[in-house]
Amino acid sequence: MKLDILVMAAHPDDAELSCAGTIISHIAAGKKVGIVDFTRGELGTRGTSEIRLQESADATQILGIHARENLGIRDGFFRNDEETQLKLIEIIRKYQPEVVLANALEDRHPDHGKGAQLAIDACFLSGLRQIKTGDLPAWRPKQVYHYIQDRYLEPDFVIDITAHWDQKEAAIRAFKSQFFDPNSAEPASYISSPDFLNFIQARAMEMGHKIGVKYGEGFQSQKTLEVKLFL
Ligand SMILES: [Zn+2]
Repeated sequence: MKLDILVMAAHPDDAELSCAGTIISHIAAGKKVGIVDFTRGELGTRGTSEIRLQESADATQILGIHARENLGIRDGFFRNDEETQLKLIEIIRKYQPEVVLANALEDRHPDHGKGAQLAIDACFLSGLRQIKTGDLPAWRPKQVYHYIQDRYLEPDFVIDITAHWDQKEAAIRAFKSQFFDPNSAEPASYISSPDFLNFIQARAMEMGHKIGVKYGEGFQSQKTLEVKLFL
């Protein structure tokens, strides 16, 4: 199945936290969107791999995406090496996305910057026909954009997600084990405080404010973006 947008994410909740609104708005506009998570998030402080897998399936339902895959590489310790790049190249060639949304270029969690570079390298290499992956032909996405995650980065552009904020929040809340639950006996983590979801909302408002709407999601692009003065 060909996708319009393929979201690449180091951890199973990165896409929901940082670009769920963009995903939902493009599906509403008739685009085909999929996610490839690199790891199962098995080093997360709370929950287990099995719980997170179920939560990811619940979030997938809420987003309404057309495909979701997991590379199954090691949380925290994966490498941007040939073996990993080839796994990701197979996914890129299978889905032939026009646009890739990838992790932030730099962030609090080292997997995010590493995941961003893995995405960049695999998208480039996937376009080289001398790299063979079975019957899948070479394919290079036209654009790779990086969603902004925990650490504030100045966006190169912002997407209006105002109409889809409630659905984004529902997709995030599907990761019940990760976020605030007053009845949980699990250890507290960086993202389990009641303030974390308020922060996500505040960030969306800050990004939206930049373009004069209520809620937005910010992205960076390594390539200079073309702007048409009149559409
Ligand atoms: Zn992450």
